[in-house]
Amino acid sequence: GELPESLRETIRRRDAVLGPGYTLIYREPVEFVAGHGAHLIDRDGYDYLDAYNNVPCVGHAHPHVAEAVARQVATVNTNTRYVEESLVAYAERLLATFPEGLSRLSLACSGSEANDLAVRVAKFHTGGTGIIVTRWAYHGITGEVASFSPTLGAGSPLGPNVRVVDPPDPRLAAPGVSLAEHMRAQVRAAIDDLERHGFRLAALITDSAYSSDGIFTDPVGYFPGMVEEVRAAGGVHIADEVQAGFARLGETMWGFERHGVLPDIVTLGKPMGNGMPISGVVFRPEVSAEFGRSVRYFNTFGGSSIPVAAGAAVLDVFEEENVRQRVLENGTALRKGLEEITRGSAHVAEVRGSGLYVGVEIGGDGEPDRARAEDVINDLRDRRVLISGTGQAANVLKIRPPLAFTAADVTRFLETFAEVAKVRL
Ligand code: PMP
Repeated sequence: GELPESLRETIRRRDAVLGPGYTLIYREPVEFVAGHGAHLIDRDGYDYLDAYNNVPCVGHAHPHVAEAVARQVATVNTNTRYVEESLVAYAERLLATFPEGLSRLSLACSGSEANDLAVRVAKFHTGGTGIIVTRWAYHGITGEVASFSPTLGAGSPLGPNVRVVDPPDPRLAAPGVSLAEHMRAQVRAAIDDLERHGFRLAALITDSAYSSDGIFTDPVGYFPGMVEEVRAAGGVHIADEVQAGFARLGETMWGFERHGVLPDIVTLGKPMGNGMPISGVVFRPEVSAEFGRSVRYFNTFGGSSIPVAAGAAVLDVFEEENVRQRVLENGTALRKGLEEITRGSAHVAEVRGSGLYVGVEIGGDGEPDRARAEDVINDLRDRRVLISGTGQAANVLKIRPPLAFTAADVTRFLETFAEVAKVRL
């Protein structure tokens, strides 16, 4: 269909003031004016099924979060230089969701800031500077974090202290080599290469969803071998849970728990405040103590009252509703349905994922088919279902709805996907 002239005019004005960096997702961009649950309402009143946005984890415009934030805005906002019971209580509640040993929290405003602090502490603690990430990882936007976010491409070069390893795609291991052996060997080689160039290891950064690498949540169990190599070299393990955290993968609150490891540092963001900018870094105290004593880290908005009120309200919802169980059930139904619809398709290489994070890799015979993935994404958008793409070739359909996705939402998604698949897959 044709875009309404008024929307086209907004897009023209948008381009003029924001510039070319602000790309839009769909061939026919859309403007939303309201939302609830996993639904977004456009300016003409049409209802879209949101199967993409992870920030509104407990649902768009969740009334409990809205009420908590509104109340705090109308009461007071102070920062971490003052005593505040609500901050202390929030830190206690959040840390109680972590395994024993991960017992210190710092607060910031974005996933990028969290990763920036995590790496700063890792460098301080280890005395090293070397960083290991996966080949198409994305960890954020600060200068430092961009230097270990290879997915940003050639315009944003990697630091000389950065090495990449394969994403955990079992197909990349040589025949007869397990994924665990493959990943361990990759990390070992990266450490050796860093040392050969005079860099001691500071940290391995994992992402239990491997989102920008193309969504590789399973199989699990290869973390321990990688982490053993890292600790033997004097480095620490940073688990970036900005994508995988807050029960996204269904089985556990935190993605790393599925792998049976205890990271040294964990970073959190996106869904943490259901839209309010709040992020966190969780530490083993022995890793962060000396940094805390020696370096002044004050983050004006990080840990201030308003975002903390949002974070606490999100935890309320997690405690009141059985979010994890719902994610597991609806996620499994979603994945099973997608497997059924795409079974036998020459254009679908794999359906994978865990919980409410599903990837559908488009491309037959091992050849990524980005154009076809884009057609599917835009066809779904035309039928008012929202997803996007990821992976090195952007050929993996990225299906990552708010955790408020219901069984009825799964049904609507699968019915619409089946219509598009009939034409495109
Ligand atoms: N880590 C991961 C794994 C992410 O996906 C992102 C954001 N896409 C970030 C870090 C950065 O978070 P933010 O955009 O809040 O800075």
